[in-house]
Amino acid sequence: MEGDRNLANEPFLDVFGRGPDARSTNIPSGGGVPPWLAATLNYCSRCGTELTFGEIEGEDRQRLGCPSCGHIAYVNPRLVVTTIPVTDDGRIVLLRRGIEPGRGLWAQPGGFLEVDETVTEAAVRETLEETGLIVEPGEIVGLYSRLEAAVVVLAFEGRVLRGDYRLNPEALEIQAFRPDAIPWKGIAFKTTYWALRDWLNRRRPDIHPADRHWDE
Ligand SMILES: [Zn+2]
Repeated sequence: MEGDRNLANEPFLDVFGRGPDARSTNIPSGGGVPPWLAATLNYCSRCGTELTFGEIEGEDRQRLGCPSCGHIAYVNPRLVVTTIPVTDDGRIVLLRRGIEPGRGLWAQPGGFLEVDETVTEAAVRETLEETGLIVEPGEIVGLYSRLEAAVVVLAFEGRVLRGDYRLNPEALEIQAFRPDAIPWKGIAFKTTYWALRDWLNRRRPDIHPADRHWDE
């Protein structure tokens, strides 16, 4: 499914660029719904009629609509809430992922925001589920768009209050790393890389992350 314009080519956006989060996404803006997501949107959720893609009166871009009842199937990104848990002695807790994507690689705890919780509740819940640690969410380290995955990743700094590492299907290993010993070569996601880099820039500007060359 193609959008009818590329936002990256809109002259009024030139002065802003794509924002600091553009570094965490690979594809141009304005490309419409990612194909993998469009493939899941076939029928109207109200009446079951097959959806069609195209111009809809009153809409400023082409969209999926129901030719029978007029329902418009808006497609928006989901929010992934993560934390960079920091221990009292200034180490960062990461987990080695037990599931795809990124199985066997290191990432911060996090997951999809549920519809009935706040972002800070999600940060606490996901961190507890995946590490066994209770964190107090603090400053926002960054917000990162991943257009190809249709998500926005929010990273909180999280102060570790208590708890004990608890391995689980999502975490094969949990470890606290000194900021100068982060396993850069084994980082799972671009958003993890950027969140750690942004955290270092803020808290430990004396430490520079190793280059990570992405082959995705
Ligand atoms: Zn319908």
